[in-house]
Amino acid sequence: MSHLTSTDTLDPDALRERYRRERDRRVRPDGTAQYRRAAGEFGYYATDPYTERVEREPLTDRVEVLVVGGGFGGLLTGARLREAGVESVRMMDEAGDFGGTWYWNRYPGIHCDIESYVYMPLLEETGYVPRWRYAPGEEIRQHAVRIAEHYGLYRDAVFHTRVTDLTWDEAADEWRVTTDRGDTMRARYVVVSSGTLSQAKLPGIPGIEDFRGHTFHTSRWDYGYTGGTADGGLTGLADKRVAVIGTGATGLQAIPHLARDAAHLYVLQRTPSSVDVRDNRPTDPEWAASLRPGWQRERMENFLAVLAGEDVAEDLTQDGWTGTARLQRQMITGAVDTTLDPAERERLDELADFVKMNQIRARVDEVVDDPATAEALKPWYRYMCKRPGFSDQYLQSFNLPNVTLVDTADHGGVTRMTEHGVVVGDDEYEVDCVVLATGFEVGVSGVVSGTLPVQGRGGTSLLGAWARGPRTLHGFYTHGFPNLFHLGGMQNANSVNFVHILQEQAGHIAAVVERAGKAGARYVEPTEEAQDAWAATIATVGEGQDSSAFLAECTPGYYNGEGTRKGGAPTSYSPGPVAFHRLLAQWREGDMSEVLVLPEAAPAGEAGR
Ligand code: NDP
Repeated sequence: MSHLTSTDTLDPDALRERYRRERDRRVRPDGTAQYRRAAGEFGYYATDPYTERVEREPLTDRVEVLVVGGGFGGLLTGARLREAGVESVRMMDEAGDFGGTWYWNRYPGIHCDIESYVYMPLLEETGYVPRWRYAPGEEIRQHAVRIAEHYGLYRDAVFHTRVTDLTWDEAADEWRVTTDRGDTMRARYVVVSSGTLSQAKLPGIPGIEDFRGHTFHTSRWDYGYTGGTADGGLTGLADKRVAVIGTGATGLQAIPHLARDAAHLYVLQRTPSSVDVRDNRPTDPEWAASLRPGWQRERMENFLAVLAGEDVAEDLTQDGWTGTARLQRQMITGAVDTTLDPAERERLDELADFVKMNQIRARVDEVVDDPATAEALKPWYRYMCKRPGFSDQYLQSFNLPNVTLVDTADHGGVTRMTEHGVVVGDDEYEVDCVVLATGFEVGVSGVVSGTLPVQGRGGTSLLGAWARGPRTLHGFYTHGFPNLFHLGGMQNANSVNFVHILQEQAGHIAAVVERAGKAGARYVEPTEEAQDAWAATIATVGEGQDSSAFLAECTPGYYNGEGTRKGGAPTSYSPGPVAFHRLLAQWREGDMSEVLVLPEAAPAGEAGR
């Protein structure tokens, strides 16, 4: 163990002080208000570069289930509904095809940083084995298409279509749905799976509209301009000076390709990411042949359990995520070791964090030749203040002669943009193209952002009903809004392998819809009592689950509202996803009377018999 990673020689006070200094030079008073939406005058940043929009006649028909969102959440719901025997399912998405985030994000180098064998859902069901341990985005997008084809979800699907209004029709017990295509369709059930990181956000850099060169957001990569594909080969940049703003998970993957292919690349960094070893490799055919039925569920459950701090005999994945599970407890709900005194637990956690971050910083020195550049690339914060990064090419890019790292931290980011380029402090960098790897608005799905207005029973608006915070049972449904289901982490569960969470949610929704059918329920709607009880459960913070102190010390980022939110009320079930899934499974064993509303004539308590 080197002197940097030995606990004996660590100076916790000095490290804490350094972390605080680095945070303070980044905190901006405007917090999340520093960003702009890719809408209105910036709407061109959000247009679909991949599929041509085709005109069609408005629809006026009726379906059993409308699923809003064609990413993995929607696809899994569609798949589970089909397995439950529901034939009339309409999938809808604003994109031109299935895939969700993997439809939109096609930037060069795109990969999933979660192991493909636990991330890509329904592998056994569709008979597919991923080619790589960490799959490229295009392979994942094609898998989304494969799932849709396998479960017949293209039938009745509508793309490039956005819901403009959902209104509950009390006389007919169904939803009236209008869209931006002039559709006025009806659906008995509506499932909303519109994603958590789907709205591209643009930096509110003064003068951004003055720039006369080419510019686009990474989630709308312009291959017409850059040439090449997601595998690289950006030949169009051979004579171009390019600036890239943002060094998060996306920047880490795109920058090695930009560095290789651009005439000159300026990497405008505000906060360095932690960059750990990736170690991607092709799937071993012998290993794949040795897999037994049920292997994927077992592996997914194991990954989830290790990350959630559960007691597990064996770590099947053994990668950068499972190896740092203990450090993730600071941010992600799960089991904590309550045999330790809380202060002692925090002391040991912090020590483990310092050791990990020292390793990350030491790696920068090992890889990057220029000492000043290496220094600027070192992250000074605790491991989970930002999403951890992994790459075996990113740091290496800074050894190329055509790559310049520009540290913008002292200026709160890029100072301004001009007709010809970007300005940081007093220095202007003239460029032909600016790539925005500046991320996404967090947790802004349609119903929460108000872009998908919902009127429930008595014309009550969902946003109005949630004015003082969301009210749901298990995160899925709300009293006053019958037959409407939500997917997402809110009042439900969370994990870095979010597709696993979505898979559980999809299965649960399909089970409820199936039971409602069998019970002859009039509709599905939680009682107010059940909803209130769930709100109280969510508000209960278990020992070691309060992340406020941790987040308050963190460098600004989307985990802590850009340094303005110091924790706050819990948003998901604090004992963690494994415990939550157990709770749901038990609940399904019951009679579901908390949500099944039977026709008036039916005697109470008949539900589910
Ligand atoms: P992030 O929000 O993580 O990163 C945005 C970057 O832009 C940050 O480096 C930020 O700096 C920088 N930035 C923003 N405004 C400015 C400014 N005015 N001047 C200079 N820099 C600025 O977005 P990503 O797209 O990288 O990732 C978003 C999320 O998407 C990830 O956290 C992850 O959940 C997901 N993702 C997952 C992947 C996977 O493999 N599973 C791959 C890619 C993304 P600062 O940090 O200082 O705010």
